[in-house]
Amino acid sequence: MIRSATTIANGTSIDSDVCVIGAGPAGITIANELAGSRTAVCVLESGNRRMPAVPDPMLDVECTHLAIANDSRVRALGGTTKVWTGGSRATLPTGVARAAAMHAADGAQ
Ligand SMILES: Cc1cc2nc3c(=O)[nH]c(=O)nc-3n(C[C@H](O)[C@H](O)[C@H](O)COP(=O)(O)OP(=O)(O)OC[C@H]3O[C@@H](n4cnc5c(N)ncnc54)[C@H](O)[C@@H]3O)c2cc1C
Repeated sequence: MIRSATTIANGTSIDSDVCVIGAGPAGITIANELAGSRTAVCVLESGNRRMPAVPDPMLDVECTHLAIANDSRVRALGGTTKVWTGGSRATLPTGVARAAAMHAADGAQ
């Protein structure tokens, strides 16, 4: 169940065993792993379902030793996957199988 916090009254308590902060790939993966178990999970996401208006002032970062661009993160359900361009396709099962086959072929020579 996904609920907008704007529909939940101030001061409401949410009972859960685990509270995951952020519905990016990390948070969603953890919640998905726990789904169906006896552990009650609550995921709190700061953004909405859609991309926020740009620029999003809540993404401002102050960092003295790293240059972190504000548009390198997305505050929305799904997190930064909202702006993926498919760069991880090579790690999907077909890509892994192809890489394993090429590795095996290399070893056979
Ligand atoms: C342009 C671009 C393209 C990319 N393409 C790929 C790709 O093709 N393949 C790939 O593997 N990786 C890609 N990446 C990298 C990948 O997006 C990140 O490594 C990944 O999103 C990190 O996941 P995360 O869950 O840790 O953080 P995020 O995706 O940043 O998600 C964090 C979530 O937590 C929420 N949040 C943060 N703080 C709070 C708070 N206090 N309370 C509530 N919610 C909060 C945020 O709103 C956000 O939704 C890309 C990155 C960029 C910028």
